[in-house]
Amino acid sequence: MTDLRAKVERVVREVIADLAASGALRPGPAPDTAAPRTPLVAANWKMHKSAAETRAFVAKLRLAEGVETVLCPPAVLLPVLAAALPPGSPVRLGAQNVHFEAQGAFTGEHSCAMLLDAGATYVVVGHSERRALFGETDHDVARKAAAALRAGLRPIVCVGERLAERESGATFRVLRAQLTAALTGLGAPAPDPAALVVAYEPVWAIGTGRNATAAQAQEALAFLRDRLAELFGHAWTRGMRLLYGGSATAKNAPELAAQPDVDGFLVGGASLDPEAFSAILAAAAARRPEVTR
Ligand code: PEP
Repeated sequence: MTDLRAKVERVVREVIADLAASGALRPGPAPDTAAPRTPLVAANWKMHKSAAETRAFVAKLRLAEGVETVLCPPAVLLPVLAAALPPGSPVRLGAQNVHFEAQGAFTGEHSCAMLLDAGATYVVVGHSERRALFGETDHDVARKAAAALRAGLRPIVCVGERLAERESGATFRVLRAQLTAALTGLGAPAPDPAALVVAYEPVWAIGTGRNATAAQAQEALAFLRDRLAELFGHAWTRGMRLLYGGSATAKNAPELAAQPDVDGFLVGGASLDPEAFSAILAAAAARRPEVTR
């Protein structure tokens, strides 16, 4: 069954890649590419924190000028977080998952409208834990990303190779396939580049304490930006944010953030600690716009 599923997914990816190459995904209007990309740092709290811990986190958080900060708590904590932030706070809220249907018999799920109601602006889509532990497929990821954008939620689409894929030299094939599949449902014209974020999250780096080197992260993100340019055009692609995720810490963030295609971070473990997360925000703020590609 798993083999069959893998084969079906591979065929779907190939068809999608052909569609993309044929120009079926036409670019929308070009954005103002003279404007530098605003770094974005998103915290993925996964299944951590109580309401009291959420309030304590907010009290200790230090924002960084010029960095868009996104906090993605468990969905039930979105209203708690919204209430804990000072009025007019620039911090954006995000969800960790969404269902692509608007409503229905989907026990345990949340729709885009529900997440928007709860205060979310962003939603993480296709996280490797959702793919590996909850059987989320490329097709699901595509439907979620499309539903989010239609509803006015900004998807943070995660892609990344497993260790065996990296070791067998399949990294770029996997990244291309996941990215192309995830974006198929978007159609034309292309969405607002500020509303779509792609995170490179090598599975072997997530929660392992072993981050990708700055060179590995840059290489993968440059590859993704070039593939996005094939789909949506260079001008559009220069306006969108690409994140690195996988054991990002206060220590490794400065070197990673100095890479031309690293526009910020998706942070798991280190985002639970307000000091560590604030230091990552500061590292993203120190990024010089002139290094961006
Ligand atoms: C993540 O889960 O998206 C992640 C990047 O986790 P960590 O930072 O803990 O590796």
